[in-house]
Amino acid sequence: MLSRFGRGIQMLSVQPDTKPKGCAGCNRKIKDRYLLKALDKYWHEDCLKCACCDCRLGEVGSTLYTKANLILCRRDYLRLFGVTGNCAACSKLIPAFEMVMRAKDNVYHLDCFACQLCNQRFCVGDKFFLKNNMILCQTDYEEGLMKEGYAPQVR
Ligand SMILES: [Zn+2]
Ligand SMILES: [Zn+2]
Ligand SMILES: [Zn+2]
Ligand SMILES: [Zn+2]
Repeated sequence: MLSRFGRGIQMLSVQPDTKPKGCAGCNRKIKDRYLLKALDKYWHEDCLKCACCDCRLGEVGSTLYTKANLILCRRDYLRLFGVTGNCAACSKLIPAFEMVMRAKDNVYHLDCFACQLCNQRFCVGDKFFLKNNMILCQTDYEEGLMKEGYAPQVR
């Protein structure tokens, strides 16, 4: 799962050696007993925060995520930059914050989830069929089966 979303960056809690380090967050010297080392920089435990939710990253887990100069916790990173997968209908990426429809292993944009022959949209409870990875309404599915000479099989 991690590899699909880019890799988190390890944070290390280290004890400072004799020479105090400057904090990459507030630029002051770190005199605490412990400091965080991440992205090849040193940080106060209070200064390494998620740019979105302000949580202290040193507490949330041992990884942080960066993108576009933002430092983010895993949850916000996935919410903002993660992807659910490729829409099986239009094959564009679906960002993690979008609502999706799922059918078997496929995911679809809400707007793309329609019969791919007649464009009929489905409501909750409607029957839909997957054939050769195409979404079909019941009518088109059965018609397709007739053309192929099979007896319709309603699942
Ligand atoms: Zn600091
Ligand atoms: Zn966050
Ligand atoms: Zn789509
Ligand atoms: Zn149809």
